[in-house]
Amino acid sequence: MNTEENMDIAIIGAGAAAVGLLDALAATAGGPGGITVFEPSPHLWRGRPYGPDLDSVRVNAPPAIMSIRHSDPGHYAAWLGTRGAGHLDELLGQPLVPRALYGEYLAHTGETALAALRESGWRVRVVASHVTGAARSGDRWSLRTEDGRGHDADHVVLCVGGGTPQDHYGLGRAAGFTADPYPLARTLDRVPPGGDIAIIGSGLTAVDVVVSLAARGHTGRITLLSRSGVLPHVWQSPADHRPRHVTAERVAALHRERGAVTLEDLIGLLRAEMEEAGEDFEDFAAELLATETEDPVRRLRRQLAAVGDPRIGRRVLQETAHTLGPYAWRLLPEPDRERLRSHFRLASSVASPMIPVNASTMMRLLDSGQLTVAAGVREIEAVDGSFRAHGDGGELTPDIVINAVNPPPRATPRAAGRLVASLRAEGLAELHPSGGLVPAVPRLHVVGDFAGGGPFLTSSIAGVAAQAARTAQAIAAERDAMRVA
Ligand SMILES: Cc1cc2nc3c(=O)[nH]c(=O)nc-3n(C[C@H](O)[C@H](O)[C@H](O)COP(=O)(O)OP(=O)(O)OC[C@H]3O[C@@H](n4cnc5c(N)ncnc54)[C@H](O)[C@@H]3O)c2cc1C
Repeated sequence: MNTEENMDIAIIGAGAAAVGLLDALAATAGGPGGITVFEPSPHLWRGRPYGPDLDSVRVNAPPAIMSIRHSDPGHYAAWLGTRGAGHLDELLGQPLVPRALYGEYLAHTGETALAALRESGWRVRVVASHVTGAARSGDRWSLRTEDGRGHDADHVVLCVGGGTPQDHYGLGRAAGFTADPYPLARTLDRVPPGGDIAIIGSGLTAVDVVVSLAARGHTGRITLLSRSGVLPHVWQSPADHRPRHVTAERVAALHRERGAVTLEDLIGLLRAEMEEAGEDFEDFAAELLATETEDPVRRLRRQLAAVGDPRIGRRVLQETAHTLGPYAWRLLPEPDRERLRSHFRLASSVASPMIPVNASTMMRLLDSGQLTVAAGVREIEAVDGSFRAHGDGGELTPDIVINAVNPPPRATPRAAGRLVASLRAEGLAELHPSGGLVPAVPRLHVVGDFAGGGPFLTSSIAGVAAQAARTAQAIAAERDAMRVA
């Protein structure tokens, strides 16, 4: 085993999770030691979402919840400074920048952390290769990269991201079908401006595709093909309200007092929060539950008009779904988790809303008739160079189909498939029954969407940053314990 003076940390993947981890390690763990980051992408620190792309591909959340430094929620806003001025979402009153610009923030933070770590004595290197396998001998890890080389480590942290869109209708390599829409700068280049486009899905990725087609001046018909037809909710402008009931302290107190926390308890906290603000919980709950049945266009119009509505109910739910949600999720009994999972479409629509500037574009295209939402889609097939889609509204025959189906949370990232198979084969980790990876041995960590046992919603930057900080603390605590021993 290596000595504590030479603790080696291997970080697999260099997206937002790795940046959060390195930033937290630079603040918590003094050197010397070794850090090796493995990342095959030329766009270091940006991961899947934040590489170069069209300016119309924007971040989906305001700066207050996009800091990758968990201990400093203002870190991103401070970096952004005047850079955000040209990207103001007028309705929200917040800068919502192209995702590539957010990628610059991640790159800056990642490089700054590496420099700080080197400064305090760490040996740091980046290996531009996939990790394809892992083995363990005693306390020491041995990782294999695709060039066949081996790399030793004491701690291994998987920061490999989440899944990619799934091909639900088996369209595979059909001409005119795009299986993965990102980067849109590349995939939309192949789309003729007057083409009849169908987009599979109606979530945030579908919204990215629609607003990017609009930004390129697309004149042809655009249809969202979806089973549910549910669109994401629309962000509301930030309010000063700080939750007093829906808080980690109240949830922890409930857990202490009763030994368990149920969904009814959490609903009770939200009810108290709303009643204190003079708002009607029953009305709010009825409106939320109608998401799955109400006409999506009518709902979008109402939500666009309510961006500045001062009521706190939806804001509290949206904020705490990401901040408190992961903690509360672990305390819930399985039947309550199952109940939440059965409302997945509704929950992700509320917890991951679209930004008002995109909602306005969607509304304009819906009003003009260029964009329609076709729900109840059951089948899409490629026929003679075109496509046929069958749904509640009858048959559609688009020329081009773009897949925007979000992968389920905790899906195995394709690029980590061989590594995950190797960890499982060696008995070093197992897949959680509801997705994600669970380490079976010490000194193996997972940060990001692939962490097993996490909540049923896809991770946000705020959640990833919190996990990264916890992992850095765990690594530093072990190092301190070894020093004392
Ligand atoms: C399209 C999209 C937009 C999003 N927008 C927002 C947003 O606006 N706001 C927000 O809060 N959240 C957003 N999210 C959610 C969250 O911020 C992102 O998913 C975030 O990028 C997660 O970071 P990550 O490091 O876990 O994963 P990723 O960013 O995906 O990075 C994982 C990295 O691991 C590498 N990798 C994978 N396997 C291996 C291997 N075997 N060996 C070496 N390297 C490997 C990959 O190449 C990749 O660079 C978005 C998610 C997506 C998919």
